[in-house]
Amino acid sequence: MKTAILKALRQNEGYVSGQEICDALNVSRTAVWKDMKKLKEEGYEIESVSNRGYRLKSAPDILCKHELCSLIDTAWAGSEVHFFEETESTNTKAKQLADEGAKNGTLVVTENQTAGRGRRGRDWLAGKGTNIAMTLVLKPEFAPNSASQVTLVAALATASAIEKIYGAEAKIKWPNDILVNGKKVVGILTEMSAEIDYINYVVVGIGINVHKQEFSDDIKDIAGYVEQDGLPVVRRSELLAEILRQFEKYYDIFCRDLNLKNLKTDYERMLVNKEKEVRVLDSREPFNGIAKGITDTGELLVETEGKTVAVSAGEVSVRGLYGYV
Ligand code: ATP
Repeated sequence: MKTAILKALRQNEGYVSGQEICDALNVSRTAVWKDMKKLKEEGYEIESVSNRGYRLKSAPDILCKHELCSLIDTAWAGSEVHFFEETESTNTKAKQLADEGAKNGTLVVTENQTAGRGRRGRDWLAGKGTNIAMTLVLKPEFAPNSASQVTLVAALATASAIEKIYGAEAKIKWPNDILVNGKKVVGILTEMSAEIDYINYVVVGIGINVHKQEFSDDIKDIAGYVEQDGLPVVRRSELLAEILRQFEKYYDIFCRDLNLKNLKTDYERMLVNKEKEVRVLDSREPFNGIAKGITDTGELLVETEGKTVAVSAGEVSVRGLYGYV
């Protein structure tokens, strides 16, 4: 019921009467009052004025289920939310839930991810209370060989959400990292369970360094956080809800086309590597070239020695010639 109360308060910028809430939820005044009290204890500032009712003055920066559910307004992305105070990895949890039958659009969120993973067995470190660790479960109709493009859709959605919420420039380092002010603030890990020609599910994990934080020595040169000086301070739940909106919008386009043709312009606008010299760290034969953009199916086009090569994300990392980008 806390979700419904928060929704009612959020829908009304002004005051909403206790009676209106009771009628809408079909519960007693005492029940509403009890949950209001719990919300206040969690840090929600709810003003109550006699004859006028209740007004939400401010909300705490928490990611619990009722906070998220009262903000999520997408059709399917985040239609079911699983929140964990602590978990090793939201991707691992999401896979477990998907195996158990979780539906398309199920969202897993934690406040404290203790063993986040990156690509190829790397670690993703996430500060408690300052970051977002979220994973979406997808149960697509398309074939397994299209799934790698979902990573690019997620990168585009997350970068667009950051730009929309903060008014800051977000850049994508192909295929899946997002940079603000040249520092990596987002990592995305897409995993899949599939048969040869059939996807059981895809999970898309998004880790975001949101608020100001210190990083450990091994990542401090590349890592940054979104909330740079001068940018607005935004509650993580607001950013998360916007990511879902953007993801739903772009993913629906992708599913209609089954390629990135209609997302390419937006993606390339944010592509930090575009027209830059890059080093493709192919495990067999690393090479240098100029990144030109992406193909309709998400490969990076790199011009090298007079020819253009399409590089697939799978086993490759891209670096700037003089550093991370
Ligand atoms: P590459 O740039 O080599 O392609 P990647 O995209 O494959 O990297 P990810 O899987 O996205 O890498 O993320 C794992 C890497 O990100 C780690 O090896 C570490 O260098 C870095 N990292 C880990 N935690 C964070 C964090 N919170 N913020 C920024 N970078 C991080």
